[in-house]
Amino acid sequence: MGDHGARGGDTLKRVAFGVAAIGAVAAGRRLFSGSRQGAEAEHISQSEAAYRAARARILILGGGFGGLATALELDRRLRAEDDVSVLVVDRDNDLLFTPLLWTVADGCANPSDVVVPIRAFQRGRSFHLLHGEVRGIDLDAREVETSAGMRPYDVLVIALGSVTAVPDLPGLRERALVFHTPADAVELRNHLIDAIEAAHRTEDPAEHAAWLTFVVGGGGDTGIELAATIHEYVTTGLLAAYPWLASAPVRIVVVGRAERLVPMSSPRTSEAVRRTLEGEGVEVLTGASIEGVTRDAVQTSRGEVRARTLFWAAGITAPDVVRGLAVEHARNGAIVVDDHLRVPGRPEVYVVGDDAWAFDADTREPVPPTAQAAEHEGKYVGRAIATGLQGRTAPPFRFRTRGRLALLGNRTGVAEIGPFTIGGFPAWLLWHGYYLFRIPSWRNRLHLLADWLLAALTGRETGQLRLGPGPRTPGD
Ligand SMILES: Cc1cc2nc3c(=O)[nH]c(=O)nc-3n(C[C@H](O)[C@H](O)[C@H](O)COP(=O)(O)OP(=O)(O)OC[C@H]3O[C@@H](n4cnc5c(N)ncnc54)[C@H](O)[C@@H]3O)c2cc1C
Repeated sequence: MGDHGARGGDTLKRVAFGVAAIGAVAAGRRLFSGSRQGAEAEHISQSEAAYRAARARILILGGGFGGLATALELDRRLRAEDDVSVLVVDRDNDLLFTPLLWTVADGCANPSDVVVPIRAFQRGRSFHLLHGEVRGIDLDAREVETSAGMRPYDVLVIALGSVTAVPDLPGLRERALVFHTPADAVELRNHLIDAIEAAHRTEDPAEHAAWLTFVVGGGGDTGIELAATIHEYVTTGLLAAYPWLASAPVRIVVVGRAERLVPMSSPRTSEAVRRTLEGEGVEVLTGASIEGVTRDAVQTSRGEVRARTLFWAAGITAPDVVRGLAVEHARNGAIVVDDHLRVPGRPEVYVVGDDAWAFDADTREPVPPTAQAAEHEGKYVGRAIATGLQGRTAPPFRFRTRGRLALLGNRTGVAEIGPFTIGGFPAWLLWHGYYLFRIPSWRNRLHLLADWLLAALTGRETGQLRLGPGPRTPGD
């Protein structure tokens, strides 16, 4: 495996830049200036001009959990190095704090409570930001095509996250709803209200039951939290506005392909999750797969469920710009990396977060696609790059989990911390306290606290908020 050690004498080692990265700086620049001539309008801010002039240009694609953690660690370690420059590219100007998206979906908080502007992290720090779309990555030429023109690099960090993977099964791509963004969280609320209003309108009992049946595809972390959120919002949040719901036959069915829910957790945690969900009336179908969906029903390997709604939360995939790279990919499109989170054969290219197919160097356990892991990887890569620039090699990546937390509705949750599993209200409290502490902004914390308090005192948000072109209701 290559590293970022300097070539040549000791003096050079102190100041220069990773082995492979450094060796190719001149060649990369020649290639870059060639392709620049062909690029269309480029807009380069003053701060970016400094990036271009630097001797070591570190380009980070994505300012989410992994990308930001890398940038912050690089700032901490390399701030004093005038000839090193870091540029973060993201098409959005915010960090979406996904663990708290549920509290938007269940009507207790606003979408803006769970996003933190990236510029807030930049204040007083040395890295630059480019607000733009990454359109292509040329690993040979060492440059990246963005909506603001080409950007060269000496060291690249790919941290573009993931999207929900919806397989090509009959009806699925047209009808399934996904949950990945604040817009999806608002649309979940809108859709549940649409479904309940539709059930209220119909005289046909079968139609009524189908509108009040909600199927969730996926028995992992997102699937169980989705089922719990739907249950909580329908049975608790909407009850005040729709009192007849108290006696209505609302059905929520979660379908998981594995033999147990949350298969990445311990069997004890899986069992606790199943018990809690079933206790609330959520139906759990494990060892079953969804085979298709029509306007009126969801087909599973264990039979048909008459339902007008299918939410899909069974897996993620890397974005196209990552999937399209000519490197080794895992089945979900993530890039296979070595023990130092580098692309094999390309020591100047690191991958972090959901885009990395990584294993713990000691245990060989896969690193899960979570915010926690992305932050850990980002911090490691920041350190590895800084260490490489000083002519040393960082030890291989080791992942130590802090545990897992999930909300299960009705003021219950589950927490897995080391060998312990905590359930019920203590886990619910821990979830709220922990993520309130983790969201990296006092402004967001205060907004969240105020919104949670208001929801407890005056009830949840039950108005529809249309931000897009209009309602999207599968089955209509
Ligand atoms: C609903 C939900 C709940 C979750 N809950 C938890 C949880 O409780 N705990 C946990 O640990 N994990 C949770 N996760 C997983 C977690 O969000 C991801 O694992 C984490 O975000 C991955 O970090 P990342 O840096 O790889 O990607 P991200 O944080 O998604 O960052 C990727 C960045 O790249 C940008 N980007 C993407 N494509 C482009 C492009 N072409 N051009 C420019 N910019 C681009 C995006 O705007 C984004 O800012 C949850 C995920 C979801 C969807």
